[in-house]
Amino acid sequence: MRILIVEDEPELARLTHAALERHGHVCTTEADGKKALATAIRERPDLVLLDINLPGLSGFEILSHLRREKCPALVLMLTARGEVRDRIKGLEAGADDYLAKPFATDELIARVEAVGRRGGLPAAGALLKLADLQMNVAQRHVTRRGQTIELSPREFDLLHLFLQEPGRLFARTELYQRVWQEERSFDTRTVDMFITRLRKKIDAEFDVPLLQTVRSVGYTLRLPSDSDLRP
Ligand code: CA
Repeated sequence: MRILIVEDEPELARLTHAALERHGHVCTTEADGKKALATAIRERPDLVLLDINLPGLSGFEILSHLRREKCPALVLMLTARGEVRDRIKGLEAGADDYLAKPFATDELIARVEAVGRRGGLPAAGALLKLADLQMNVAQRHVTRRGQTIELSPREFDLLHLFLQEPGRLFARTELYQRVWQEERSFDTRTVDMFITRLRKKIDAEFDVPLLQTVRSVGYTLRLPSDSDLRP
């Protein structure tokens, strides 16, 4: 891949550049936000490895410029470990994934290649996506951050419903009727039990929860808002 590394810490930029080139990628490095944006627009890299705090323009500003310019580059944000809000902000602004600093070289290579593979997937119409969660409907295959998630048929159907309309609030009754198709014997416990299982599979191992409970109403699949993150 042709990769633009946007990082203002010289030593980190140098190590990242060397590691990616050892794995066969062709890299350009920029330390200044404005120059990085100009280079990204001019050179159209396959992937941009994007730091957030930069001189000139921030990583978020660069990302929103790129998306506004319809620049198709995949974007992997470099965030500080534990900064969940930065990750959410990046994913909302159109980043394809994030990598927490400091990172090991192996982790960098694996993440870059996973984003590249996902970005190269054909038949976009068959893919449903929310942030880093993806569903290939025809293959009944679900991944989060490139990791395969095994779902039972009912769990898959439930997630399929949520992924068709991210952000929409589903009442338990509706979920029950649409997934189980038994309108008479409604049982909230069945829905809650499947939601718990689904949440364990798609959210438990990841630090940005996607399946949100709306108290006494139902459930919705979306990036969390500030109120969801309150302990
Ligand atoms: Ca920085």
